[in-house]
Amino acid sequence: MSDLFIGGAWSPAATGRSFPTLNPADGTVITTCAEAGPADVDRAVGAAREAADAWAAHPEHLRARLLWRVADLIEANAEELAELESRDSGQLLGVAREVSVPGTAEHFRYFAGWCTKIQGAVLPVAFPDTLHYTRREPVGVCALITPWNFPLMIAAWKLAPALACGNTVIIKPAEQTPLSTVRLVELMSEAGFPPGVVNLLTGGPGTGRALAAHPAVDKISFTGSTEVGRSLVSAAAGGLKRLTLELGGKAPSIIAADADLDAAVAGNLTGALFHSGQVCAAYARFYVDRKRADEFTEKMAAGAAALRIGPGDDPASWLGPLVSEEHLRSVDAHVRGAVYEGADLVGGGRRVDRPGFFYEPAVFAGVTDDMAIAREEVFGPVIPVLAYDDPDELVARANALEYGLAASIWTRDLSTAHRLAARIRAGAIFINMIHVPDAATTWGGYKASGWGREMGPYAIDAYTEVKGVWTHLGPGSR
Ligand code: NAD
Repeated sequence: MSDLFIGGAWSPAATGRSFPTLNPADGTVITTCAEAGPADVDRAVGAAREAADAWAAHPEHLRARLLWRVADLIEANAEELAELESRDSGQLLGVAREVSVPGTAEHFRYFAGWCTKIQGAVLPVAFPDTLHYTRREPVGVCALITPWNFPLMIAAWKLAPALACGNTVIIKPAEQTPLSTVRLVELMSEAGFPPGVVNLLTGGPGTGRALAAHPAVDKISFTGSTEVGRSLVSAAAGGLKRLTLELGGKAPSIIAADADLDAAVAGNLTGALFHSGQVCAAYARFYVDRKRADEFTEKMAAGAAALRIGPGDDPASWLGPLVSEEHLRSVDAHVRGAVYEGADLVGGGRRVDRPGFFYEPAVFAGVTDDMAIAREEVFGPVIPVLAYDDPDELVARANALEYGLAASIWTRDLSTAHRLAARIRAGAIFINMIHVPDAATTWGGYKASGWGREMGPYAIDAYTEVKGVWTHLGPGSR
């Protein structure tokens, strides 16, 4: 049983309630976590508020040292964190070891470096004898709400910049996968953050709702579904809270006639099926030049069928389980719906007959733009292939959905690549490569894929307010 972390101390939920978290590879309960209710939310926000002024005034170089120490502790406990992440979320142990855990440590290091470099500017103003300068100040108390697909990394995407900028935080991980965040918060406590600077609430949507609605929260940073993102816009409206939203996606992948097809197949298999497709930037609709569409589909189907499905802790596995029974049913309903609408299921598309939540990747040919499988986010191992004839019509088709998180382009022609990159409305474009995040770049969506950006200097904008300070330098008063 794991507790809540509020004001520097661990305690059960005020109501005494808890919820189980399962291992998706076999459906067994790993442990239970305290389910925070409104009284706990109130206490956590109160603790963060109380700590806010002192933390905002904490010397930047000492803030940096704390963040750096978190990275060191993550590395010292890397194997435990990787195993926890794999067991709780179904992530392949190799991915947890090589991507999630090092990526989390690097994120803390990158933002440790920022602490001493968050600066204002002296701006020229039209008034004579007047000095004007800006200060970057923390927003205040930040509610950080994360999803289940990459729990540890996404927690770091929010915790590291929020703390680097001098905010206090309450983090609420997804109810399906809380364990790596609980362990991360233990390590942060060990690193020596003052009480109240980092608080943890475990719980489900109700906990998230209460946290987002709390009047003393200054900013909400949310990663999750577009539907919940929309509800948070309403929750934030009364207090005009600051809001960063990282939401759903349905990334188009464009395979031009001149693409290196074998490289495109290899890259798109990973782009679509990495973490069983449970990736917001996953390549999820494939526009292939009609001349190459059959060949591409056949190779994708053969490649997908050859991928070994199994538990995350088996080194031979390439595809792990989906996160939950509920999610597996949702993916399967999308696949059945596509068949019903007339898409041609070339391979896979059914549950694997074994305990846990395993699903064979589905490859569809003959998909048209009006089918739900080409429009809706599935967030699972599904590859719908659509043919195109006219490269000029392609941009309109790629941009037709409300999502705009990522896109991918496969071509040998740099001019095609960069012309398309400029015209597709998405926050990240990957040319001849799979989707990857990097702390130093930018992450976020156009349109219904979100508001604002995480990572790089953009995260500093997201977690600071800019203040202008004016001084009259001449004699007398102005
Ligand atoms: P979700 O929206 O159901 O839940 C996300 C988090 O919000 C969880 O912690 C949940 O408990 C909480 N929550 C649920 N309802 C809430 C409410 N009304 N108020 C406040 N909090 C609430 O999403 P999910 O199923 O965990 O994650 C999958 C979704 O996340 C997909 O749509 C995916 O595209 C998106 N995602 C986006 C990014 C990105 O960077 N853009 C990254 C990962 C996942």
